[in-house]
Amino acid sequence: MFTIKNHLEVKNNHLLIGGADTTALAEQYGTPLYVTNETRVVENFSAYRNAFPKADIYYAAKANGSFAIMRILARQGAGADVFSYGELYMALLAGIPREKILFNGNSKTDFELQKAVELGVKVSVDSKDELRTLSEIAERTGKAAEIAFRVNPDVSTPTHPKISTGLRISKFGIPAEEVIDTYREASELPGIAPCGIHCHIGSQILDTEPFVEATQKMMDLVEGVVELGINLKFVDMGSGLGIPYKKGEKTPKPQDLANAILPVFNDRTKALGISPKLILEPGRYIVADTTLLLTRVNTVKIAAKNFVGVDAGFNLLIRPTMYDSYHHVVVANKASSPPEETYTIVGPICETGDIFAKDRELPRVEKGDLIALLDTGAYGFSMSSQYNGRPRCAEVLVKDGESDVIRSAEGIEDLMAKQRLPARLM
Ligand SMILES: *Cc1c(COP(=O)(O)O)cnc(C)c1O
Repeated sequence: MFTIKNHLEVKNNHLLIGGADTTALAEQYGTPLYVTNETRVVENFSAYRNAFPKADIYYAAKANGSFAIMRILARQGAGADVFSYGELYMALLAGIPREKILFNGNSKTDFELQKAVELGVKVSVDSKDELRTLSEIAERTGKAAEIAFRVNPDVSTPTHPKISTGLRISKFGIPAEEVIDTYREASELPGIAPCGIHCHIGSQILDTEPFVEATQKMMDLVEGVVELGINLKFVDMGSGLGIPYKKGEKTPKPQDLANAILPVFNDRTKALGISPKLILEPGRYIVADTTLLLTRVNTVKIAAKNFVGVDAGFNLLIRPTMYDSYHHVVVANKASSPPEETYTIVGPICETGDIFAKDRELPRVEKGDLIALLDTGAYGFSMSSQYNGRPRCAEVLVKDGESDVIRSAEGIEDLMAKQRLPARLM
């Protein structure tokens, strides 16, 4: 037995996850199949909690919205960063206390604001317009809304442009130079209790420097807010900590992030004589490496390239298509065989961009082999669709060699579920 990447092991040429043989899982549940290792979810969350013992860790539910995963994290004491009423509903149902939930979003409906106020969940307000709407809703409901403002700190992050969120031109947040004025307005509005400040600079960031810059800029703003006489109970620095998708890649761990930003946060709050709670909102770091997508080889075509056609498409994993992202590939039933050929792994969807991995050195691949796409726990299933008439696959949770279905596979009936024919077409 040897370790291939983090918690993933190889035994008798087969890839194992959480002590379970992936080839047996594929036989038992069919493919495509998402498989998550519960132990790894807990390990990743603990790494954050141990690095930031005084902070609250709000799991970013959009990274992986599976209810079982929310439940695991709720039992570990996680809070939640939610972006819709759907995520709020599930977080509460999973047992995450309302005091540890922040309702985010740059374009919330009045219904969503109403629900946040009724349920007593903090709201991260993204514009002055939204602030006024929320004030009216809170007044009508007779309950004060605890709010933070989402700040756009104008920090450029060396990541894919589609996941950089803290740039000046990003759609998220209030421009830094307008923040103090916005807090002033908030402190005068009925039904509004400004009590926090929030930012989130991007995702898959592989260096601590942008986080330090963001912390400094946020603490400058905190100083201005405190001068207005506002009592800040929390400073939410969002997340964005990247993970090593490529084997052997060196990336910062939560402890490195803590070493980089805590001195700034602690010094500045001490100098101001305040003690707000630090909140962090990791998504990717908690779940990305816990999960793999198992997919069966339908066909191998030797053409301009050696194409391996598998039974999963970008409807189940859109990151490579959308973000040009890299996922490590293992032939799960030949996991310790030496590489022999260069292959490009493609899905069955009628789109040129349906490519999971380009030019990978792998053992000889044949029809029926099982491919594992690694590190697919974040922004994988949660971004899935039924495109091309493809029902979504099942999700399985493994722990100490045992497995349970946490979401059953959709069938053809799910493609038809909400469709109706007007009478004239009957
Ligand atoms: C997506 C998101 C996160 C999580 O980001 P990761 O890079 O997955 O850790 C946190 N906060 C907000 C506001 C987000 O939109």
